[in-house]
Amino acid sequence: MRLTILGCAGSFPSADSAASGYLVQADDEDGRTWSVVLDLGSGALGALQKYGDARRLDAIGVSHLHVDHVADVAALHVLRKYDPTGALPAVPLFGPAGTADRVLQLSGSEHPSEQFDVASWEAGAAVVVGPLTLTPIPVEHPVPAFGLRVTGPSSLPDGGTATLSYSGDTDTCPGLDALATDVDLLLVEAAYLEGRDDHLRGIHLTGRRAGQAAARGGARRMVLTHIPAWNDPAVTEAEARAVYDGPIALAYPGAVYVV
Ligand SMILES: [Zn+2]
Ligand SMILES: [Zn+2]
Repeated sequence: MRLTILGCAGSFPSADSAASGYLVQADDEDGRTWSVVLDLGSGALGALQKYGDARRLDAIGVSHLHVDHVADVAALHVLRKYDPTGALPAVPLFGPAGTADRVLQLSGSEHPSEQFDVASWEAGAAVVVGPLTLTPIPVEHPVPAFGLRVTGPSSLPDGGTATLSYSGDTDTCPGLDALATDVDLLLVEAAYLEGRDDHLRGIHLTGRRAGQAAARGGARRMVLTHIPAWNDPAVTEAEARAVYDGPIALAYPGAVYVV
């Protein structure tokens, strides 16, 4: 599997990055590359055209319906529907209940059903997309939200099966611990800072809380993401490093992680 960061800015796009968007790809036994996008927040469609192919997606999985995670699904609808060479076929779109209505609301007028086969995540119910299996796990956020555990063929020399987890937006919770357990890579949000944001619970992680989850679960590697422009990423990384011994990376647009 390969994970490409499309956008990693927390809560809103930054000068240097779109909001959340992550491209996960894997090759099947016939050599066909399957592409799934996890979240497509504000601006992420631009990066998808740079680092992937917005016309060739096998599925889209949305963690929750905040605008920094779903806005550009409405923009993708326009790209796919009005392609001058002909409308593109519907692509499976998974998200929390209400996803279709949310995309309709964002697009303003047109119902997204022509361009997306919309289905709701059911907690723990795996969705298979080619060689990839996506399992949604509920996490703690002010709106219904899921993290995603993705299993697929390893792209490392040893082969076998690899697992990566994406936290979506969450605070510390049992779902986050389930996501962090026994994964090769934990892509985890860290929007808050210790001290400054201690009064805000049930919404986001700090670098420290993300690192604690990675340590508890034995995640073999962590990538910190969803850091808002008003934070210093080095502070977030230091918070995580104080509690987690494994490799830590800060996500940036265009970064590719081979899992
Ligand atoms: Zn967010
Ligand atoms: Zn959110």
